[in-house]
Amino acid sequence: MTSRPVAMTDDLIDQQTLDDLRTGRWPVREEIEPQSAQRLWDNVDGGWTGPLATAAVSIYIRKVVYKCTGCHEASQHPGQVSDHITSVRLTGERHRRARIKVELRGQEPVQMCSACGAMFSPRKNAGYKHLENIKILAPAHKEAREERILRFSLGPPSAKAEVVPA
Ligand SMILES: [Zn+2]
Ligand SMILES: [Zn+2]
Repeated sequence: MTSRPVAMTDDLIDQQTLDDLRTGRWPVREEIEPQSAQRLWDNVDGGWTGPLATAAVSIYIRKVVYKCTGCHEASQHPGQVSDHITSVRLTGERHRRARIKVELRGQEPVQMCSACGAMFSPRKNAGYKHLENIKILAPAHKEAREERILRFSLGPPSAKAEVVPA
């Protein structure tokens, strides 16, 4: 369903434009003929964009992003997702024997992570959620890698987003 991307700089589409596109704000600035408006599937967010003008479609359909195979993390810049994977793994290692200690800060009890020293409000039980989160994320990143994919395609992929050769 997707076309092969041509060489393109990452600066062509900035994050704001991507955000605008996602929220459907971007096309408002341009007159779109109803019959020419097309939606694209966002392979990172897993949803349809708003209606796009033909000129926009031809640009977005070639957009390449780097995605984490272990979670929804994605970046326009190569290497950032690899760094993210390394950091999630290290955090997992570091928290292997972590526990939550309750301490007093002044009059206020706080939950403190024994591994990283982060402090959390006991009211929302955020300290335990911090540990639970890491317990879920770390194993999911054991085999994770940075994948170069097309950000948008004409429809949802049947199985997996097409991997673009580097
Ligand atoms: Zn990830
Ligand atoms: Zn921690």
